[in-house]
Amino acid sequence: MNITVVGVAGRMGQALVRRLCAHPDLRLAAAVARPGSDALGEDAGVLAGAGASGVPVTDDVAAGVAVAELVIDFSTPAASRRVLGECLAAGKRLVIGTTGFTAGDLEAVSEASKHIAIVLAPNMSVGVNLTFKLIEMAARALGDDVDVEVIEAHHRDKVDAPSGTAVRMGEILGQVLGRDLEQDAVYGRQGQVGARARSTIGFSSIRGGDIIGEHTVMFAGIGERIELTHRAQSRDNFVTGALRAALFAVDKDSGLFDMQDVLGLS
Ligand code: NAD
Repeated sequence: MNITVVGVAGRMGQALVRRLCAHPDLRLAAAVARPGSDALGEDAGVLAGAGASGVPVTDDVAAGVAVAELVIDFSTPAASRRVLGECLAAGKRLVIGTTGFTAGDLEAVSEASKHIAIVLAPNMSVGVNLTFKLIEMAARALGDDVDVEVIEAHHRDKVDAPSGTAVRMGEILGQVLGRDLEQDAVYGRQGQVGARARSTIGFSSIRGGDIIGEHTVMFAGIGERIELTHRAQSRDNFVTGALRAALFAVDKDSGLFDMQDVLGLS
């Protein structure tokens, strides 16, 4: 399959190019960076540290889309809007890993997916998405007999808390247990906080060092507890997920899919 990567000079773009250059079945068709990027004209494989690929970095989104069977986008919301338009016009499949879309953007993605196949996943990690499913199963089986707490840890430079993935885990718990994060979430505790309300979904955030990302959901009962933990060791897990999404989408003509669909968990 010929794949065009958009955002090729970024952290995810580089990791994708490295994997594509070594892949037996997938081929880097075009490498798109932002206009004005220092990377323009360079060999995309050399830029990513994977050796010569014969694919020069370009800022021509339309030309990049034209030579692709499928486009993988890890860039910015503004760039992704453009990519979506070009894929729609050219009838090309699209995997979107970029985050930070507005409700209007998501509406446009949904509308475009009536005509082209799109996988949209703010977290492409296979392990995280499987953990989402395990959390759902555990919450369904354990119900209100246990107290649920979400604990996450990230590197010292992360500026928001709790992480988007932790919030998603809380949302899944809320959906299964009939709770609402607006009312039931408790973010950290200090002082005379009183006994724990049964409906609480607790969040704790740890920040330090170079931790890439760790998430635990604790189901604490009387006499036993279950902890479901995912630990990211590198960004490569996102690349693995993106390529699985690409292989999933390649035979789809239209529709909007997420990683639960890609992994057969929906
Ligand atoms: P990054 O900042 O390292 O890379 C983004 C790249 O996009 C930059 O090189 C930037 O120059 C480029 N870009 C901007 N405008 C462009 C344009 N018009 N055309 C082509 N390229 C353009 O960021 P990153 O860590 O690689 O992440 C990229 C995006 O993917 C972010 O939105 C991030 O939140 C998201 N992300 C998602 C997942 C996931 O699992 N879905 C995982 C990691 C990162």
